[in-house]
Amino acid sequence: MPEKNLLIIGAGGVAEAAAKKCARFGHILGDVMVASRTVAKCERVVAEMESALAPTIAGRRPEAPRFAARQVDAKNPAQTASVIREWNAGIVLNAASPHVNLAVMDACLETGAHYIDTAVYEKEGEINKPPPWYADYEWKKRDEFARRGVTAILSAGFDPGAVNAFCAHIQRELLDRVDSLDIMDVNAGDHGRYFATNFDPETNLREIMETAMRWQDGEWKGARPHSRRREFDFPEVGRRRVFSMGHEELHSLAANIPARRIEFWMGFSERYLQVFTVLNKLGLLSPDPVDAGGARVAPIKVVKAVLPDPRDLAPGYSGSVCIGCLGRGEKNGKPRAVFVYSVASHEAAFADVGAQAVSYTTAVPATAAALLVAEGPWRVNRMANVEELDPAPFLQKMSELGIGWAVREEDPDAPDGIVES
Ligand code: NDP
Repeated sequence: MPEKNLLIIGAGGVAEAAAKKCARFGHILGDVMVASRTVAKCERVVAEMESALAPTIAGRRPEAPRFAARQVDAKNPAQTASVIREWNAGIVLNAASPHVNLAVMDACLETGAHYIDTAVYEKEGEINKPPPWYADYEWKKRDEFARRGVTAILSAGFDPGAVNAFCAHIQRELLDRVDSLDIMDVNAGDHGRYFATNFDPETNLREIMETAMRWQDGEWKGARPHSRRREFDFPEVGRRRVFSMGHEELHSLAANIPARRIEFWMGFSERYLQVFTVLNKLGLLSPDPVDAGGARVAPIKVVKAVLPDPRDLAPGYSGSVCIGCLGRGEKNGKPRAVFVYSVASHEAAFADVGAQAVSYTTAVPATAAALLVAEGPWRVNRMANVEELDPAPFLQKMSELGIGWAVREEDPDAPDGIVES
């Protein structure tokens, strides 16, 4: 068995799917602890890991990994450091809310445990944080990680995460000169509910109501939410309308890959847009507390409380998500356009770990990153965003773990079809 173990922080949809994936690699990652604010959630995840692996564990004792659950307030670095030490964790996979990132990083710096997360840090309640995001938060700790020789892999989910690796692959292998990178994400699945978000409603709805920032001609440009759109013919899921949105990968890609324009696009159903518009116009997406019959309450918290828990969407969720990056530029002196993408089905995600595809597509790259840190290729002993690292072993690992990827040649002369109103 490995000398060190794995600590997963969080017990939501992503953490659960990642824990179940990582549990199958005890021979590389060691024993797996799930620690979160609500210990009952961790215990449920651990019970499911144990029952899923029961046949393997029974056949392989005593080498089989041990699993454990703990309560931790990850905003408290001392508490997290104490859990890291108790568990002898060599890697911390932070799959909790993005508000805890900086505190968990501090715990890793204190203990020397390598750090992986899936989203950029967010201040609770902050909307429309001006760019640049990583530079204002995580990157301020860059020197400290390098000085102490501790690895921090930032935002190793799907978008951000796998798409950053797609961009690195485009830059290294597919184009000599990159003109534009368009990250596009469409969920063509059906969860059968009137309205639900596929991950934390607070994060999801906040992202959509913010100014749509993009990197263009060496500066940040903003557009009103849903005012920039285009259509794109996605592999397997077909032609879809997508909207420009601000997203964290733009804030590292703009610093790491020179391109004239880097933009993020997401598809929404008509129903989703209608409900979002009503909630927004009524002020129900505000994080600012209001007086409600004597209680001070943030409207967005009420909305979150009444919406389905994203992890409960998994059973019966049908259809697929397609996420990729359209790179345009030049190769061997000729214009070239490529779409590097993955398609993941909700049914396959459920069959593998009992999750829906949005949690699954985040958990699989995070697990791949953990394995690469444990095995060595990504144990870089410094802080890095995914596009700064060799994408080849990561994309290979993702395929082995259940999410393949492909490259589709596009017509380099076709217009972008971007409409702004
Ligand atoms: P959930 O809201 O389902 O889960 C968040 C978890 O964080 C909960 O278990 C919660 O604890 C825990 N948590 C919150 N605050 C604390 C704290 N102070 N101490 C300990 N635990 C805490 O989120 P998801 O699983 O959907 O998402 C997890 C992460 O993945 C988020 O950062 C999200 O932004 C990111 N993400 C990234 C994607 C990508 O492609 N890169 C896509 C989707 C999500 P509890 O419930 O126990 O109280």
